[in-house]
Amino acid sequence: MGSMAFERVTLIGIGLIGSSIARDIKAKGLAGHVTICTRSPETLKRAEELDLGDAYVQSAAEAVNGADLVIVSVPVGASGSVAAEIAPHLKPGSIVTDVGSTKASVIAQMKPHMPDTVHFIPGHPIAGTEKSGPDAGFVGLFKGRWCILTPFEDTNRQALATLKAFWEELGSMVDEMEPLHHDKVLAIVSHLPHLIAYNIVGTAYDLETVTASEVIKYSASGFRDFTRLAASDPTMWRDVCLHNKDAILEMLARFSEDLAYLQRAIRWGEGDKLFDLFTRTRAIRRSIVEAGQDVDAPDFGRHALDPK
Ligand code: NAP
Repeated sequence: MGSMAFERVTLIGIGLIGSSIARDIKAKGLAGHVTICTRSPETLKRAEELDLGDAYVQSAAEAVNGADLVIVSVPVGASGSVAAEIAPHLKPGSIVTDVGSTKASVIAQMKPHMPDTVHFIPGHPIAGTEKSGPDAGFVGLFKGRWCILTPFEDTNRQALATLKAFWEELGSMVDEMEPLHHDKVLAIVSHLPHLIAYNIVGTAYDLETVTASEVIKYSASGFRDFTRLAASDPTMWRDVCLHNKDAILEMLARFSEDLAYLQRAIRWGEGDKLFDLFTRTRAIRRSIVEAGQDVDAPDFGRHALDPK
């Protein structure tokens, strides 16, 4: 894919993900013209101040006019209403994609609205931070990260190749997956960890025997690493939980069972069981570092925090 891969791109939703895409498009010259669309005047104004695109439009219907590529980056629960609004105004032959963290639900919400004349190819970049809004985005967010596309059997191969090349220009590696399988994989690697983090942080704050100030003061011993995940956007994560219900409940059931096993091992003093598990999990950490999905710096790479 060369520069100016798309004549006109429209980004609907300009938070962490949308604004990171906008910044990469600009940095790499991947579009002749970028229209930014978001529902609130405040966010739209901020996107303009940050100079993220070429045109700034509040109405999604208006924003997709003439676009060759439309990327929807809103909370997954809002994808149906966005699809309904843009559908009659999409340019024939254009590609419509999304970045939502759940796929079966987004497809169920968006696909019925999509006209046969456009190529609807759902997607999910596996990259992010706990921050949200247009200021949170940055160039290179997707570099070295996977992007999962969930095309349909009859998806046009050329359109798929074009979208794949677009994500590769952003530095991503691209995989294809069945939507339901995507939802299971993400339930264990992303949704469950966030739920555990929200839960442990909530529990710590509700304790009567340990004060909140003690929790904060001594957090470097492990707790603070959960607080990063637990600081993620409440709207986004409410929607993820409600829209990947089955897979999350399946993984939670399995998790609770395994936790009960650990609880039992502790109660009965079965150190070998604990030791075996803790050894296996160390190996998984090593594999993640070897796969380039994290760095091997101690203290979770937080050297910058060290007082010098
Ligand atoms: P974000 O920073 O909170 O930005 C959300 C954007 O969506 C804003 O432009 C917001 O508009 C708009 N929006 C919110 N509610 C809406 C609604 N009901 N109708 C229409 N637009 C609405 O969110 P984000 O982190 O970029 O996440 C966007 C999508 O990417 C989500 O589907 C999420 O699952 C997915 N995702 C997130 C991450 C991550 O780590 N954050 C990673 C991969 C994928 P206003 O500000 O104008 O209200």
